[in-house]
Amino acid sequence: MSSLRFQVLRDAINRQAQYPDEKIRRSNIFGENVFNENSMRQYLAKDAFKSVLSAIEDGTKIDRKMANQIAAGMKEWAITKGATHYTHWFQPLTGGTAEKHDAFFEPIGGGGAIEIFGGGQLAQQEPDASSFPSGGIRNTFEARGYTAWDPSSPAFVFGTTLCIPTIFVSYTGEALDYKTPLLRALQAVDKAATKVAKYFDSEVSKVQATLGWEQEYFLIDKGLANARPDLVLAGRTLLGHSPAKGQQLDDHYFGSIPERAMAFMRDLEIECMKLGIPVKTRHNEVAPNQFELAPIFEEANLAVDHNSLLMDVMGKVGNKHNLKVLLHEKPFAGINGSGKHNNWSLATNKGVNLLSPGSTPKKNLQFLTFFINTIMAVSNYEELLRASIATAGNDHRLGANEAPPAIVSVFIGSQLTTVLNELGSQGKNAKNDDESKVLDVVPKIPEILLDNTDRNRTSPFAFTGNKFEFRAVGSSSNCSSPMTVLNMIMAKQLKDFQAEVEELRKGKKMPKNDAILEVLKKYIKASKAILFEGDGYSEEWEKEAKKRGLSNNKTTPAALKAKVSKEAIALFEEMEVMNEREVEARNEIELEAYTMKIQIEGRVLGDIARNHVIPTAIRYQNRLIENVQRLKDIFEDDFKKVAKEQMELIRAISNHISEINSKVTAMIDERKKANKIESSEKQAEAYCNKVKPYFEEIRYHCDKLELMVDDEEWPLIKYRELLFTR
Ligand code: ADP
Ligand code: MG
Repeated sequence: MSSLRFQVLRDAINRQAQYPDEKIRRSNIFGENVFNENSMRQYLAKDAFKSVLSAIEDGTKIDRKMANQIAAGMKEWAITKGATHYTHWFQPLTGGTAEKHDAFFEPIGGGGAIEIFGGGQLAQQEPDASSFPSGGIRNTFEARGYTAWDPSSPAFVFGTTLCIPTIFVSYTGEALDYKTPLLRALQAVDKAATKVAKYFDSEVSKVQATLGWEQEYFLIDKGLANARPDLVLAGRTLLGHSPAKGQQLDDHYFGSIPERAMAFMRDLEIECMKLGIPVKTRHNEVAPNQFELAPIFEEANLAVDHNSLLMDVMGKVGNKHNLKVLLHEKPFAGINGSGKHNNWSLATNKGVNLLSPGSTPKKNLQFLTFFINTIMAVSNYEELLRASIATAGNDHRLGANEAPPAIVSVFIGSQLTTVLNELGSQGKNAKNDDESKVLDVVPKIPEILLDNTDRNRTSPFAFTGNKFEFRAVGSSSNCSSPMTVLNMIMAKQLKDFQAEVEELRKGKKMPKNDAILEVLKKYIKASKAILFEGDGYSEEWEKEAKKRGLSNNKTTPAALKAKVSKEAIALFEEMEVMNEREVEARNEIELEAYTMKIQIEGRVLGDIARNHVIPTAIRYQNRLIENVQRLKDIFEDDFKKVAKEQMELIRAISNHISEINSKVTAMIDERKKANKIESSEKQAEAYCNKVKPYFEEIRYHCDKLELMVDDEEWPLIKYRELLFTR
């Protein structure tokens, strides 16, 4: 009797929603735990305040004396928020966030104590982080990585700790985290985009990338989730037969939010508000117990920090509500996975969205410039973009039939397709020094664009009115990785574009707008292959994409190669985002992470199959055997007819058991072989191509047994229980 399963289920069913105090007005608490401009004004002297602002706005360095003053103000503020400790908060390559708490408290002579926090502690720390992955850059015995304050992302108090967002670099200056290359890519895109934006408005002095992520996740009762070894250890289910009812009715999407989930969301929103994360929308997703949360977009570095922080906060709030938040890309087979759409655009310091179509031809030329350059950037570097979102978890989504495919293409909608066709097919402009005449040929762009919602949900990279939406990002990913690549390739593209325009202006004495149009027309022709308006999930598209020469890297080991190609390394170096060592180190870490994930999954699956499934099946089979023997006593000659079904079941169970056993043994053999491989690339490939294929086969037989064995005997929480208990 599987009493544990029923006990856990009973507890889950009996749990009530716990709503937080709803009298709190959101606008009153927004940013209350953030050391933002308001609190800085209150706690910092004027020149200290100014030096932080100019560090944020222009990246100027803060000197030690100023840092001391800022630290003192920050500490005073943090103490009023209940902080007793401080930490440098950073995003190591393990995923997640890292922190090491130090107390402000410092004993002084005579039995007294004071709170201390100086500029040195604010600006730089050695987290003694010898166990964070560094891909060989920082020898573990050196353990000399250090964290350095990033003033562009404000400090905040979470719980009783003052958290200071930092980068994490080796003492030779190499990036060991996600934030460092992102900041460099953002700087590159600022530089390149500002130069191009100046063609249209000479007063533009800064361009920021903007990011609005949409976070999908599953909520499962914690008791139920904890009773599944695969959810606990691998973050996803490795077996489980699909329930009689799945998501086919589509009744969960935009349906009313279940009570316990609602209580969790309200609590989460309150926590987010306090931390200055501007969460705005919440709703159900397609799959049962799947939800989504989205903020208002922000400057990309801040948005990335906010998403990392959110993933942390979600887990903590979930605990309070006895819910486990599953951020894995594919927690359940046969049911939609989770993604994290990255809505991205570029905005000038004058508040203009460069991907927003305008009402005048001049504004439209600006729009078309950034729009077409984005398409060109994706066209040139589609394979690198695909590599930027490659993880073991995301491999389950890309190419499965609910997620954008592993092929990167760009969707722009029928209206803009027409606009590009019109522009592309125009002949060479007559030489004309009158710039306003040149602008006459800029196609009109209907203003209804934004509301035009014939959005293609199957596209991995879609234009949605005034921004591009990179949809293939995995739900558990740190947005930095795709944002670093996207902003870097855009920077490179804009840099090349500007050079081409200047060449025409200087060499051929072409008027500015004429030159711009000329280069744009060339790009329209050159980037045709990346544009696709059809069904991205279809088989025809796979064939068509192949003809067009687009990459289709279905697995992480295959996809990651594009990150370490000669061209990619040259690009990372040219844009000063990473040097070769940093790229190689990162690749090592990503390959190792992949291998470890598959290795863990393989072990867990083997354990469950052998220690849970097979013993249960044998027990049930013994009951059947006993039954047949008794039938034989009663019916004697006739028993073969009477016990026919039972005997068939006994045979079927035996078959499944032996299949499971031999497949688990074969999988373990492949694992042993893979473990001996030295090269991390070859090892990841072996795990991908030799070990992983056994998962499906083992699962198939386990799932068949789940359907045969008495429900009361089955030890594992079933899919229907995980997905429909609320
Ligand atoms: P959906 O894609 O579900 O229809 P919306 O269109 O409302 O959702 O927007 C999704 C996300 O896009 C939100 O987080 C929003 O803040 C963000 N977004 C809107 N404009 C921009 C922009 N200019 N830059 C970056 N993100 C943006
Ligand atoms: Mg979206």
